[in-house]
Amino acid sequence: MVDCVYLMFLLAKNSLCIKKVGGKGFGVFSKKSIRAGMVISDYLGKVIKTAEYDLDKDREGLYLMYLTDQASIYPNLSKPGPHLINHSCTPNCWIYIYHGHTLFFALRDIDPDEELTISYLLSPDEETCKPCTHICNCGSKNCNGTFHLTKDKYEKWQKFLDKEKKKMKVAKFAVGKNLSKLPSYPKTIPQNFIYEFMNK
Ligand SMILES: [Zn+2]
Ligand SMILES: [Zn+2]
Repeated sequence: MVDCVYLMFLLAKNSLCIKKVGGKGFGVFSKKSIRAGMVISDYLGKVIKTAEYDLDKDREGLYLMYLTDQASIYPNLSKPGPHLINHSCTPNCWIYIYHGHTLFFALRDIDPDEELTISYLLSPDEETCKPCTHICNCGSKNCNGTFHLTKDKYEKWQKFLDKEKKKMKVAKFAVGKNLSKLPSYPKTIPQNFIYEFMNK
């Protein structure tokens, strides 16, 4: 029997749990049905200057979340959080930038006991990622074998993100301090191009 720790995130209590998954460390699983569009989590943590980040602590760089061109969010690894959500080439969650915060939301309906997955959205320049350790074994039909996006997908995603960012307010933060929770969150993310994006 797998040990199951209940989590809150931004969903109702007891909606999610953490389990060990073979070969990937931990993973986040649904306990209840999650409807497409529902907001799951806000990626919070300490704001650091990306250039000063010590890559020896985290060689793959997978916990750092983009905040601005100079700053990143580094989560508290001793607490459960969205940083435990594993990568999939066919993820059931995606990110949405809201007031400069990175929200995770359900890309489709998620059944109870399904693992929540996200794309790590790594840029395709594998040339600068050597030796690349971003090997994917997500088991999905469309698995690319890597966390790096294809050039085509990456460009489409960036284009969409740039457009969204222009409409968005920026996050309030201070380097060295924790990015704090927003006073309120949307319950759902409206339909947008991302919902179809991964299957094209
Ligand atoms: Zn890599
Ligand atoms: Zn994969």
